[in-house]
Amino acid sequence: MGCGACCAFFPVAVQQADLVGPGLPPALTCFDKNHQQLMKGTQTSLSRCAALKGVVGTRVACTIYDDRPAICRNFQRSWENGRSNPLCDQARGIYGLQAFSRY
Ligand code: SF4
Repeated sequence: MGCGACCAFFPVAVQQADLVGPGLPPALTCFDKNHQQLMKGTQTSLSRCAALKGVVGTRVACTIYDDRPAICRNFQRSWENGRSNPLCDQARGIYGLQAFSRY
C-alpha cells in the first residue's frame, strides 16, 4: 500500500487462468507485439498497470486485488519471506525508494 513500484515498472503477463470466472476484467488487459496478453499499461518499459491507483512510493492500491493475475500474487517484496528479491529492489530503486531491509 505504500510502494507499488513493481506495478509501475515491469510488464505484467496475464495467463488464461487469470481470466477464468468473474476474475480479472479483460478490458484491463492488452496484447503486446508478440501477442502476449498483459495488464493494460504495462506493455512499454517504465509503464504503469491500469489497475494501480495512487502515487508510487506514497499510497497505492490495486483496484482488482482479489482478482489480480497470478504473477502479481507470486511476486514477493524483498525479505517478505526471509529472502531478498532483486526485482523488488530494482523497481524501488527506479523510483528512488530504498530497498526493503531484512530487519
Ligand atoms: S494487477 Fe494489481 S498487483 Fe498486479 S500489477 Fe496491476 S496494480 Fe499491481
